[in-house]
Amino acid sequence: NKQVVLQRYIEEAPKETDMAMKIGKIELKAPKGSGALLVKNLYLSCDPYMRGRMRDFHGSYIPPFVLSRVFSHLLDVPIEGFGVAKVLDSDNPDFKPGDFISGLTGWEEYSLIRSTWQLRKIQPDDSVPLSYHLGLLGMPGFTAYVGFYEICSPKKGEYVFVSAASGAVGQLVGQLAKLHGCYVVGSAGSSQKVDLLKNKLGFDEAFNYKEETDLDAALKRYFPEGIDIYFDNVGGAILDAALLNMRIHGRIAVCGMVSLHSISDPKGIQNLYCVVPKRIKMQGFLQSDYLDKFPQFLELVTENFKQGRIVYIEDMNEGLETAPGAFAGLFSGKNVGKQVIFVARD
Ligand code: NDP
Repeated sequence: NKQVVLQRYIEEAPKETDMAMKIGKIELKAPKGSGALLVKNLYLSCDPYMRGRMRDFHGSYIPPFVLSRVFSHLLDVPIEGFGVAKVLDSDNPDFKPGDFISGLTGWEEYSLIRSTWQLRKIQPDDSVPLSYHLGLLGMPGFTAYVGFYEICSPKKGEYVFVSAASGAVGQLVGQLAKLHGCYVVGSAGSSQKVDLLKNKLGFDEAFNYKEETDLDAALKRYFPEGIDIYFDNVGGAILDAALLNMRIHGRIAVCGMVSLHSISDPKGIQNLYCVVPKRIKMQGFLQSDYLDKFPQFLELVTENFKQGRIVYIEDMNEGLETAPGAFAGLFSGKNVGKQVIFVARD
């Protein structure tokens, strides 16, 4: 059973060499009484939040990954992440061999899944690729849905700004905002991504933030009347510039801070004072607090996708051994769209 393991805890942005390939052993059976599923992993997801589990820090909402056990007789525990898999054996009455699932699995060929948290059965559908259950119809898509509708309180005609706009979450935020009748501008880190935002994902405007020497001036150019909603995927300098450009009673959904290379990043936010005179509502959120809304999200987005009103861009790497490099690439913007790893056919 080929596995990807974490070699060391990190503070800075992850590198490919922080992870390693190992060969482990697994019995292809779900032990009786365990309630577990034995699955074959088909697709694995690379998600920025996983960096938080690579730190030796226990005070978060989710524990750190188990380190590689090089000098121990114990078996290694692979990196854990969202995946799409096929059930081979089951000790859980809700799942049977042959079912497809999405949920938290291991970065390995076969996994024993014990946790049912965010575990879902997938109905295979010829018009929806299975891997979309890691992006458009999975955790990142749901994050876009929750962040936009629950946190941003959008109104038709409002001005919306999205950062990391071509990524797994951002590309859906922009499309939901367009469907809601908003004016949407996205920022991204390359001309290829800007082109996709404008010509494939239906954003009204997009710009490459790496080419802007003055982010405040760039936002003034795209939002001469100011921003009603900022969906923040990156934090740092873009958040700081957005604060200066928010309208009175604007909303900021703080989804993530991928620009901060460590949680104790020294780059401070200078313009936080704007929240007072502009009466800005700024709220962090976790998609996992809203799981009761998952069925309505799935219905809305699946329907719009099938009707051609929503599209989705994936960046698919082939082979488990490409996972460490693909994951590290999220933090330099190497991925174009949702980063997924193809592991095996079912
Ligand atoms: P993406 O697919 O957008 O991949 C990460 C992207 O971040 C990169 O492609 C890159 O795009 C951008 N990026 C990397 N470094 C920087 C930087 N220094 N400055 C600005 N942009 C940078 O990731 P996701 O869509 O999966 O995640 C987006 C955000 O949402 C993350 O912050 C993540 O942690 C958060 N998240 C939050 C959840 C929640 O429940 N709150 C759940 C899921 C995700 P570019 O080339 O455009 O710079």
